[in-house]
Amino acid sequence: MRIILLGPPGAGKGTLAGLIKEKSGVVHVSTGDMLREEMKSGSGLGQEVKNFVESGGLVPDEVITKILENRLTRKDEVAKGYMLDGFPRTQPQAEVLDAILEKINQPIDFAFYMEASLPVIIQRLTGRRICRQCGAIFHMTNMPPKEEGKCDECGGEIYQRADDAEETIRKRMDVYLASTTPVIDYYEKQGKLKKVNADKGTEELLNFLLKALDEYNESNQDKISTRD
Ligand code: AMP
Repeated sequence: MRIILLGPPGAGKGTLAGLIKEKSGVVHVSTGDMLREEMKSGSGLGQEVKNFVESGGLVPDEVITKILENRLTRKDEVAKGYMLDGFPRTQPQAEVLDAILEKINQPIDFAFYMEASLPVIIQRLTGRRICRQCGAIFHMTNMPPKEEGKCDECGGEIYQRADDAEETIRKRMDVYLASTTPVIDYYEKQGKLKKVNADKGTEELLNFLLKALDEYNESNQDKISTRD
């Protein structure tokens, strides 16, 4: 099962992917996480992308598509399926992704579009905190850590992403509207888009996605048995 999670920053893609991973073991591939790892390691690539990431701009298509291609064509757990979060963010990225997946004969099954409104996005992102060590996500109001500044999961230090400052969030939203909206049409035209209102709580979204996955599995099962 290969799914794309689409939606504005703050729609809850990372949170949802974390929960699905817990429930079903499907791997979470996040290009934002990969870039932050590179920045943390201080690699040449990390230094190259730092300004784009911290200012809320987009890393150039050629750079990010190369990183993603390396990840998706590795013969490890991604071969069994994944949830792709943060990619594609432009139509050229969507086209390159299709080309990569066609080469390895592993097309995307569907794109899950999480629509959210600006006030909800700002509330979620300004309060978001992340564990530096294990990546667990918290929220100062909705899901605060038990002990201030410390991760419930691993005791690691909790921090706020530089691009979660309110001004940068607005810039990320502008970038999203200008660059990523065409990606939604792209998957709609392919008949692969499933839309949901992401202003709802996480529990409701999780149930919706798990149900969509079940329905998808059942209908594919039918196709397999009809072919047999
Ligand atoms: P995210 O964690 O998905 O919010 O991504 C954080 C930042 O990483 C974005 O604001 C971009 O600067 C960069 N980034 C992540 N994925 C992509 C992508 N597919 N294309 C370009 N830039 C990206």
